Amino acid sequence: MVDGAAARAALREHFGYEAFRPGQEGVVEAILAGRDALAVMPTGAGKSVCYQVPGIVFEGLTLVVSPLVSLMGDQVRALLDAGVRGAYLNSSLTPGQQATVLRRALAGAYQIMYVAPERLADQRFLDFAREATISLVAVDEAHCVSQWGQDFRPSYLTIGDFIAQLPTRPVVAAFTATATERVRRDIVRLLDLREPYEVVTGFDRPNLYFGVERKDPKRKLAWIAAWVLEHPADSGIVYCSTRKDTDKVHAALIEAGVRATRYHAGMPTAQRIESQRAFIADDAPVMVATNAFGMGIDKSNVRYVIHHNMPGSLEAYYQEAGRAGRDGEPSTCMLLWSDGDVSTCRFFIEQESGNEELTPEEAEAVRASRRRLLAAMTGYCNTTTCLRRYILDYFGQGLGSVRSVSEEGSGAEDCGESLTKRPFGREEGLEPQDSVPEPSAASSSSDCRQAVGTCCSNCSGDFEAVDVTADARAIMRCVQELRGRFGKGLVVDVLRGSKSAKVLEMHLDETATYGASRASTAQIKEIIELLVAGDFLSITEGSYPTVGLGPRAREVAEEGFVLTMKKVVHKADRTRAAAGV
Ligand code: ADP
Ligand code: ZN
Repeated sequence: MVDGAAARAALREHFGYEAFRPGQEGVVEAILAGRDALAVMPTGAGKSVCYQVPGIVFEGLTLVVSPLVSLMGDQVRALLDAGVRGAYLNSSLTPGQQATVLRRALAGAYQIMYVAPERLADQRFLDFAREATISLVAVDEAHCVSQWGQDFRPSYLTIGDFIAQLPTRPVVAAFTATATERVRRDIVRLLDLREPYEVVTGFDRPNLYFGVERKDPKRKLAWIAAWVLEHPADSGIVYCSTRKDTDKVHAALIEAGVRATRYHAGMPTAQRIESQRAFIADDAPVMVATNAFGMGIDKSNVRYVIHHNMPGSLEAYYQEAGRAGRDGEPSTCMLLWSDGDVSTCRFFIEQESGNEELTPEEAEAVRASRRRLLAAMTGYCNTTTCLRRYILDYFGQGLGSVRSVSEEGSGAEDCGESLTKRPFGREEGLEPQDSVPEPSAASSSSDCRQAVGTCCSNCSGDFEAVDVTADARAIMRCVQELRGRFGKGLVVDVLRGSKSAKVLEMHLDETATYGASRASTAQIKEIIELLVAGDFLSITEGSYPTVGLGPRAREVAEEGFVLTMKKVVHKADRTRAAAGV
């Protein structure tokens, strides 16, 4: 039997830390006591220590399953530096080297060994594992096992079988930075964790203010430039979805006299290193970058993160936005989005065939998984409830600080507005955390932990709910009339009564819904996206996406159906309105 003292000694001796961080100790103790564990902790919280310390304390071998093959070398080097006997096994080694590693592992030469998930299905590896004494299997990035997770990898599905084939069952511990309730249940089921000790820590970032604004793509640049100029003393990051936009925003900021730098994968390495240095040293306090920037960057005084485009998942968004305010000082996370961002994400999902060798079924499962993540992201853009609540509900954590799932009930209900209350709920018994909160009637919820106005743009009531039911119904009728044969653009043309050659050629000016709406092109497109998010419409996959009726299309025509859309009203406008200007 091992005790906590041995763990703390290992932490001090090998890693030089005096104490465990919140959440770490419980996991380490559970593992050392022979109990399975599931730990959900944000990046940087210190997950590695949770399996490395038991790996050191345990007699036998600890296998760490990780998909990050390119990082294994570094991780093992860090272990060796810390005086821990580590090794890795992946395809970067020659067959001869692999054989050597396995032979030495059998002789007890290693405490911790990193392996790629594909390896577990390999007969030679299985023969080795049956002979070796394996005390712990730690599964890193465990969300990869779930189709509801950010990065579903079919190879993760072999982990459970692998463990089941071992003569003595090791302790199994799973780690991830992002996992919704449904993903957590999948991890437990698919890895066959037995009554695991579960812990979810530190997702709430009380010092961050969250804002969402729908923006015409043409206006984004001006908005960002104005923001940056209004905050001249602050360091910030502007994330763009493409290299082209990155260059454009960067050039505009330079033009405006801002000391900005940029970073994307299309730049030469030397330039990227210099950009990174300049940003961290505050020589260039504003960074314009694609999502290639940020991994492993630890700059504490980032005062704002602005997204020029909507990312494909809330996981990605929260990770990037979370680079603001590491020092605990008030900071802003602003997301600008347009319906075009949603189309772009959708396009990429359908284009992607997967980089692993997947069967057509597996590839489709991956795409389906991505579509669900996108729906949660668009839900964030459209929700009228508290944005912080939305995020924390999504990640399965209430507004408490550390929640051990084994000791349920820490203030998840202490906030007035719950996302489970929605005007139109979703079917199929989805967990509340996974269902996409619907666009709802206006209600500026005030968050309990922040003073009103400091929590998020919804809590500060920076918007009005506009009733778009009539336009939504016109759109539905139009799509039905066009029988799902056309894309968004043509639906808009018909509704707006366009005289374009395409419309006239196909005699679409003779349809009943021709000219049925007075809304602007941008508005109609946004309402279409809202209807897609609610499953009332669906957009087909493929190179020419067409708009068709969704599974819930019928409901739109029903009495009592109301669709509202957020319209941002800035404080200044309100004051003017109040003054009757
Ligand atoms: P994660 O895998 O959760 O992203 P890491 O395991 O890489 O996080 O740890 C993040 C950083 O925190 C590392 O620099 C690590 O050395 C440090 N760290 C982890 N645990 C502790 C601790 N108990 N005390 C101080 N620093 C720690
Ligand atoms: Zn809020």
